[in-house]
Amino acid sequence: MKSVGTIDEMRHVIASARAKDQSIAFVPTMGALHEGHLTLVDEAKRVADKVVMSIFVNPLQFSPSEDFARYPRTLEEDAALAAKRGVDLLFTPTKEDIYPEYAPVVMVHPGSIGKEWEGAVRPHHFEGVLTVVAKLFHIVTPDVAVFGQKDLQQAAAIKAMVRDLNFPVGILVAPTVREPDGLAMSSRNRYLSPKERQLALILSKALFAMHDAFVKGERRASALEAIGWRMLERVGGLTPLYLAAVNPDTFTRVNTVRHGDAAVGAIRVGETKLIDNIIF
Ligand code: AMP
Repeated sequence: MKSVGTIDEMRHVIASARAKDQSIAFVPTMGALHEGHLTLVDEAKRVADKVVMSIFVNPLQFSPSEDFARYPRTLEEDAALAAKRGVDLLFTPTKEDIYPEYAPVVMVHPGSIGKEWEGAVRPHHFEGVLTVVAKLFHIVTPDVAVFGQKDLQQAAAIKAMVRDLNFPVGILVAPTVREPDGLAMSSRNRYLSPKERQLALILSKALFAMHDAFVKGERRASALEAIGWRMLERVGGLTPLYLAAVNPDTFTRVNTVRHGDAAVGAIRVGETKLIDNIIF
């Protein structure tokens, strides 16, 4: 695996891959890699000759009250995991290289997709995400980029950006990887104390219960949401932030749930905010 630390060098390396007619799949991350990130690499390897992974903790997608400063940075371990899994090129740009002017004047706005749920809990979050992803797409020029279902609203916003702004990039979304007990893997799980880790499990349990009720025939979003809310509220020591049945493309709430719709949820446990979702 080759490690590249600057935009200039990245452009150079990409140009030589292009000269050899190699296709490129791209996996953008913020590092603190776990099995969820690494399955995106597996998916990327299936569809292209070369896999590029970026590790960049993007300040633009954190609000001042959030965890940018304490976000886990484990570059050495990450590089070893990425190399072992078959990443060809690891891109680790500095904040100064990506944002010589902080913040950028021109940004990408998610429109209605970024309004509710994560967008409401984290104002300007999706502007930060779309802006950095647009920049990384221009630098890496991938044929395909792979994202995780774990961040479903983010995947929807990126698909919409690619469609509406004519990026020549295919978007793949890979399934959420979970711990054996159901907790969705997340870099933020390492913030959790053993007790918080136990409490956090209720989010996936609530989503699975909604899914079970759907499979048994319940189609009213309000009834499905009530099943999940009751479970979240019954557990003390955490704050439910949202839980809703939505259209996975527009991220508007649905009244009647159909196959392929999603339930999205978020909770705060101690200082840590966790999100998860399931597809009905
Ligand atoms: P992050 O480093 O949290 O920005 O995530 C980088 C990419 O990994 C995003 O596309 C995420 O959706 C994806 N990802 C994070 N956690 C998981 C997971 N548990 N399963 C699948 N993909 C994930």
